Amino acid sequence: MSDKSHVSLEQHVCLVCGAAFDTGNLLLDRRLRASMERHTKTGWGLCPEHQKLADDGFVALVECDPQRSGAQAGGRMKPEQAYRTGRLAHLRRAVFAQVFNVPIADAQACVFVEPGVIEQLQAMTASVEG
Ligand SMILES: [Zn+2]
Repeated sequence: MSDKSHVSLEQHVCLVCGAAFDTGNLLLDRRLRASMERHTKTGWGLCPEHQKLADDGFVALVECDPQRSGAQAGGRMKPEQAYRTGRLAHLRRAVFAQVFNVPIADAQACVFVEPGVIEQLQAMTASVEG
């Protein structure tokens, strides 16, 4: 559909699952031209489900296929370059720090991992997480 409008519902894309969700904001064309689609994705965020997990102290591990993902700049993949395999895991921050032996910033809700990491992790943490 290409019926454009001067108003658009703002959406963000979830960093964790890649799903677009409404932010509740309305975007308005400054000159009231019918310039926008019904929905406009303006950036990244966390969908309600994954926001809740982040609030609860979980870090999301997002499995990405390095073959299909874009080049990593400085070892850190940009969200728009990540090719998600659809596999996810959530780890408590304390457990994450223990397992990977790196501190994780409070603001960081997710990390991209290579295929196999989540599997390994689940084996390692089965006893910890229950
Ligand atoms: Zn999500």
